Amino acid sequence: MAKEWGYADHNGPDHWHELYPTANGNKQSPIELHTKDIKHDPSLKPWSASYDPGSAKTILNNGKTCRVVFDDTYDRSMLRGGPLAAPYRLRQFHLHWGSSDDHGSEHSVDGVKYAAELHLVHWNSNYNSFGSALKKPDGVAVVGIFLKIGQEKGEFQLLVDALDKIKTKGKEAPFTNFDPSCLFPACRDYWTYHGSFTTPPCEECIVWLLLKEPITVSPGQMAKLRSLYSSAENEPPVPLVRNWRPPQPVKGRVVKASFK
Ligand SMILES: [Zn+2]
Repeated sequence: MAKEWGYADHNGPDHWHELYPTANGNKQSPIELHTKDIKHDPSLKPWSASYDPGSAKTILNNGKTCRVVFDDTYDRSMLRGGPLAAPYRLRQFHLHWGSSDDHGSEHSVDGVKYAAELHLVHWNSNYNSFGSALKKPDGVAVVGIFLKIGQEKGEFQLLVDALDKIKTKGKEAPFTNFDPSCLFPACRDYWTYHGSFTTPPCEECIVWLLLKEPITVSPGQMAKLRSLYSSAENEPPVPLVRNWRPPQPVKGRVVKASFK
């Protein structure tokens, strides 16, 4: 594999384990959800997020996704409840998408792939740092939200408008006064299971909360995501049009639903 992982033939998901052995582990994400096999767990509580818009800092293009970064130096933007035994701090959110509107999400539901998937990454504030949380099975909680094609979501446009400032790899721009809960769907029903980051090193430290209800975005908004480049300004342009990992083996794990 080339020095840096990616999504191309020579450095894509099939090669990640060569440098990152955890990528072949027993609790990898994403997975395919089959709703007929998923049981309702009445012990699963509702979850809530209280985000401080002032904790949003920057938006960046790292060549693999666009990411919005938050101040997580104290308990400022928090996720609580649901399957979580502790409060979790929001660190960043980012997206995965595909080369066309008919695929792009990482998780799938009964064979349905959505156009994109939003991941809000939080870490367990009982641990000292994000780095130490990565080594714990309950270190990180990711809220996953599916994006399907439909009516334009106005709140999502705030993000889309900022993409012009981070067209190429390595670009970063201020992105402030933003509460990402404006991107949540109306319904808080979720599926939960234990898994991993979907990017190397694929640490198996994640409690997933996958929201059942997708949000809708327009084809134009999706096209804007695909107008980013995975190449730097001074390199031959390579469009960033595919950054999803295919489904991984479930290996006996159980997915639970918060709803009937
Ligand atoms: Zn992700």
